[in-house]
Amino acid sequence: MTNYQSQPMHSASSTPPQHRPLYPPSTAYNSYQSAPPPPLLSQPYNPTPMFPSQSTQPYTTPPMPVVQDKTGTYNSEMIDLLKAKSVVSNYAEEAPTSPLLSDENQQMNASPDVMRSTLNVIPQTKELLNKSRLPFGILIHPFKDLESLSVIQGMKIVRCDSCKSYINPFISFIDNTRWRCSICSRVNDLPQEFLFDPVTKTYGDPSRRPEVRFGTVEYTATADYMARPPQPAMYLFLLDVSHNAIETGYLQSFCDVLSESLSVLPGDARTQIGFLTYDSRLHFYDLSERQNGTFRMMIAPDLENIDNDFLPLPDGLMVTLGENRTTVETFLNELPKVFKENNETDSALGAALQIALKLLGPTGGRVTVVQTRIPNVNPGSLQAQHSQDSGKEPVNVAPTSDYYKKMSLDYASQQIACDLFLLNSHYVDLATLSKIIGH
Ligand SMILES: [Zn+2]
Repeated sequence: MTNYQSQPMHSASSTPPQHRPLYPPSTAYNSYQSAPPPPLLSQPYNPTPMFPSQSTQPYTTPPMPVVQDKTGTYNSEMIDLLKAKSVVSNYAEEAPTSPLLSDENQQMNASPDVMRSTLNVIPQTKELLNKSRLPFGILIHPFKDLESLSVIQGMKIVRCDSCKSYINPFISFIDNTRWRCSICSRVNDLPQEFLFDPVTKTYGDPSRRPEVRFGTVEYTATADYMARPPQPAMYLFLLDVSHNAIETGYLQSFCDVLSESLSVLPGDARTQIGFLTYDSRLHFYDLSERQNGTFRMMIAPDLENIDNDFLPLPDGLMVTLGENRTTVETFLNELPKVFKENNETDSALGAALQIALKLLGPTGGRVTVVQTRIPNVNPGSLQAQHSQDSGKEPVNVAPTSDYYKKMSLDYASQQIACDLFLLNSHYVDLATLSKIIGH
């Protein structure tokens, strides 16, 4: 075992600078470095020296890892941390370890490979931090491969009843049935199964558990942490096809790009897709097998008197992508032609969003909206109040209606995410419309 105290704190000024960590890394953390390279790094990593031995040699930034995605294309920007599990360590400087901590105490702190602060001590006040002129940040590398990582699964995750802190090496046991939270000092009950030691498979001293020995453990979340079992990926596209939208030419580009991208939409064999288009009316599309490879369009004209959860069909509006891929491609190919001569200038976005809620409510999913003008058909119509050029800046940029905010809350409660793409050339009341993505 290395005696840290015997190591010099700094190199003597007369000797050339030594580019190495101040303290030798502990053997415990050293072992993490020997983890095998992640399988998705398509080329073996050739380390660029972080500190060239010749001081005149310019320092070059190491290249980003090349990650090969499912389609076989190379992408140097997007990294899936769930798959590429050792992205940072190859390039980051090895973490210094504290000379004041024994190996055992070192383990009580989070592994610096997973979480590392720029400062060893957090300043007590913001003024002190400002005065120090040192940057304060924390580097977090989730899902990193660690060799000696304890994985806790199959049992209740023990957390403080009051502050929800996880049980950790800094708590104290009052006896074998209670523990005191290190953050808020509350005394909590200890579940019976916590006395079980998975290594020796015996019941007894709770301090043998990895949760209270190591600062870094991995929990496999239990059903308590899920709102419900994982649902299929659901993609619903709401497309503005008013005259204004057709004039922008976006519809053709959108359909072309989506058609090419169908195979890379995240999801699995259960992935479903659907489309709604709208001008002053709503257009539904039956893409199911019933249509024998084509699609059927249904129009709902009188939106102001429409039932909130009107659907023209009980099913077929959202279809499984894998089974109906050809139909979806045909649809995307035909859609721009259908609306090529559309002269309807109004926009019923509000009603379309309402229908989207009905369609995705049971499963949750993602709504992608492309809008080119201010919606002016109820429900959810907005006033083009600032469209007149009065020569002065409009003062009020607050939302003019809470329709979209309420809808956003409804979406959030049903696990629906919404993306809004605005391709407007005139005033669209962004302050109000943007609320749809607010929650
Ligand atoms: Zn607590």
